[in-house]
Amino acid sequence: MAESGSGAKLSLSVKLPVLIGGLLIAAVVADSSVSYERVRSSAIAITGARIGTVGSQLAAQLSLSGSQLAGVTRQSADTIVITGLLAHPDQNHKTTAATYLRPPTAAGKLVASAQVFDADRRLVWSTGDSVALRIATATTAELIADLTPKDSGVVSRFLAVGDSVIYASASPSVSNGRLVGYLVVWRYLTMTAQARKQASLLIGADARFYVGNTADNVWSDLNRPVSPPPVSVVGDTSVLRYVRAGPDGGAMIATARPVRTAPWVILVEFPESIVLAPSASFLRDSLLIGAGILVLGLIAAWWMSRRLTSPLVQLTHKAEELAELGSSANDGEQGGDEIVRLSTAFTSMVAHVRESQRELETRVKTRTSELQERNEELESFAYSISHDLRAPLRAMDGFSQALLEEYGDKLDATGRQYAERVKAGARRMDLLIRDLLAYSKMTRSDIKVGPVELDRAVRSALDQVEGDARARGARVVVEDRMPRVLGHEATLTQVMMNLIANGIKFVPAGRTPEVRVRTEPRDRLVRLWIMDNGIGIPPEYHERIFRVFERLHRTEEYPGTGIGLAIVRKGVERMGGRVGLESEPDRGTSFWIDLPRAEDQVPAVRAAAAP
Ligand code: ADP
Repeated sequence: MAESGSGAKLSLSVKLPVLIGGLLIAAVVADSSVSYERVRSSAIAITGARIGTVGSQLAAQLSLSGSQLAGVTRQSADTIVITGLLAHPDQNHKTTAATYLRPPTAAGKLVASAQVFDADRRLVWSTGDSVALRIATATTAELIADLTPKDSGVVSRFLAVGDSVIYASASPSVSNGRLVGYLVVWRYLTMTAQARKQASLLIGADARFYVGNTADNVWSDLNRPVSPPPVSVVGDTSVLRYVRAGPDGGAMIATARPVRTAPWVILVEFPESIVLAPSASFLRDSLLIGAGILVLGLIAAWWMSRRLTSPLVQLTHKAEELAELGSSANDGEQGGDEIVRLSTAFTSMVAHVRESQRELETRVKTRTSELQERNEELESFAYSISHDLRAPLRAMDGFSQALLEEYGDKLDATGRQYAERVKAGARRMDLLIRDLLAYSKMTRSDIKVGPVELDRAVRSALDQVEGDARARGARVVVEDRMPRVLGHEATLTQVMMNLIANGIKFVPAGRTPEVRVRTEPRDRLVRLWIMDNGIGIPPEYHERIFRVFERLHRTEEYPGTGIGLAIVRKGVERMGGRVGLESEPDRGTSFWIDLPRAEDQVPAVRAAAAP
């Protein structure tokens, strides 16, 4: 396996799962974060739209309450209770006004204070919380400064008094069409439990409502003063996101709406953590699913890479072993994964194969030329020996003949028989040497291939075997008008002569030898058949009989030297043809020779010298 250490040396079986795992992690993280971002922004947009609607509804309600309150104050200001007090500010009228404006009911408890001013805006009477009255002095003066008899009434901004928030409604007091004074009533700002419940139903229990002044930063949660929002919200009706400080704080989604009939603004807040809770759980779920996919993917990648890489690893090892076999020294430490190592091993194997091939080729060339040289030496040696051997043989033949002729009467029968044997031996030896010389000639002579009239070659072969044929009473049938082939006439005559002679010779005694010579076209070749009705040749000898001195019978049975077919094969090969046979014992033998058809060929091709 690959060594640990640098990444380049890691095995593919490690690299692949790591790569696939990395890709899976990247895909899961990218997919989850994109989906989370989408879910998050749509949740924020939906919440923004919802709190915007709620904010607008609340602002409309407050606006209505503001104008109703102004109308109620105006009605109170015009009653006899207030106009009477303004006409006669005695104790009796004051007691009546106090009971009227701050009755001992739940609604009356919400009134912080009430003040009555005369037409010159001088304080005539006041009742209620003295602290509130003191704090509100300046605001009250501002409030009534601009009031005219025609105004129904106005609503003030909020003031923080201790842990309460108050606001006023002020109206002119008119009696008999004349302005007689002003009534200012300050109330505590609270939201009833019922109103709170309704608002919660509208948007959810987690929503928070605040009202504040458009002019300054006094804010209330409709119960007590609270710290203002961290960003300016007046005049902005978009969806805002900010972080509110404090124990109940945190990231908020908020939107503000102005109240039309009062100098107020209403703010609706919703904690972002609640808005984003579904997106967070979506993210958690998709990460969990992603982790599952990752685990499955890693298992699949590990399994796949094992299946893919184990044959590769084996192949690499084998290739490295092979490559190392060829190299004398270790080429150094193997680096890279299996593919890199495999390619290195193959490169070095290819180099070794090329080198060995070159070496082999050179060796073969050297050996071949050496062999050729030896062959030539041997052939010329054999030729000269054979040649030289014939002279003593002729002497043996001549002297044994002379012995028989001149001293025949002096020898007894055995002596004459010996002399005959010597003579016959010398003749056979001479025959053998002659055939060997013929074979050697066939091997060495210069053969020029060209168009040959088959008829002519077969006819001259027949002339030469005529004596044998007549002696055996043989019948030789030759096809009329045979085609021209590419060959060498003298060689072809010799070949045909050997084959026809064999066809006549290897026939059992008592059977008339019949030899047929015919041709058969074969594509660009001519197949020449020499068929006999002789003893046949067992298939296992079909190859052997073409070798020098290979004979299947004793000389007494069928005379011969065993060189005829060797000459046939050599001659045919040197003319660029092929020779073969079809035969079975006692079913005759058909030798065939394939030679190129003369018309198809460029004439006068010089055959390569046989080795
Ligand atoms: P030779 O004819 O001098 O014996 P060849 O080389 O011509 O030598 O033939 C080799 C051997 O092949 C022969 O001895 C013979 O056994 C066999 N042979 C060749 N031609 C024929 C044939 N036409 N029919 C049967 N046997 C044959």
